[in-house]
Amino acid sequence: MTHYTCKGECNGISETPVSCGAESCSLHNHPLAECNCEDGSHKGEEAAAEETPTEEAAQ
Ligand SMILES: [Zn+2]
Ligand SMILES: [Zn+2]
Repeated sequence: MTHYTCKGECNGISETPVSCGAESCSLHNHPLAECNCEDGSHKGEEAAAEETPTEEAAQ
């Protein structure tokens, strides 16, 4: 499921493309980054170069 994460100190997560609302965060008022992870790692594009194709166990 697509979600959006803040790359700043607040580590905020939203299900909608909003801007960071944490005033103490360095990315306050910056739009959150789109993320499609399913494991909660929120690594986004950074994980593409180091993805692990294994561990896709049958359910
Ligand atoms: Zn933030
Ligand atoms: Zn994520």
